[in-house]
Amino acid sequence: MKPINEMKLQFQSHSVNEAFARAAVAAFAAQLDPHIEELADLKTAVSEAVTNCIVHAYPHSVGEITLRAQLFADGLVKVRVRDRGVGIPDIKQAMEPLFTTLGGERAGLGFAVMESFCDRVTVTSRVGKGTCVTLVRRFDGRDADG
Ligand code: ATP
Ligand code: MG
Repeated sequence: MKPINEMKLQFQSHSVNEAFARAAVAAFAAQLDPHIEELADLKTAVSEAVTNCIVHAYPHSVGEITLRAQLFADGLVKVRVRDRGVGIPDIKQAMEPLFTTLGGERAGLGFAVMESFCDRVTVTSRVGKGTCVTLVRRFDGRDADG
């Protein structure tokens, strides 16, 4: 199916841009008239994916993050978050709840949160080349009273 609308953003992996990315996706996806909770779920998932790029993909440097959001007529939203960072050697393990390579600092719950707030989460990655996380969420919404 072809998206009814699409946007792309590219920004640097500064931690302040996590809030920027979350707000930008929410502002864009709001045109589907979702329930507040549905939009909040998407924002949380985007926030986790972008935070992972900032803290894991580019641990000692600042790199580029690209984000694409597509909206579909049936209320589906697809957000792709891509980095060109270190990559993930074992995706299955990385997605297990409580698995983290930054023990002591991180809970290892980011992917679990993305999966619980989205209908589908897909991860592709190549070590040394980068990671691509695709979040799919369906809005049933169409709030009349906001
Ligand atoms: P939390 O999200 O709870 O703060 P976390 O980031 O470690 O902790 P997840 O978001 O579930 O937990 O990610 C699990 C692991 O997957 C990370 O510890 C990291 O090793 C790896 N990872 C996730 N995203 C990326 C990425 N974009 N680039 C490289 N490694 C990643
Ligand atoms: Mg995380």
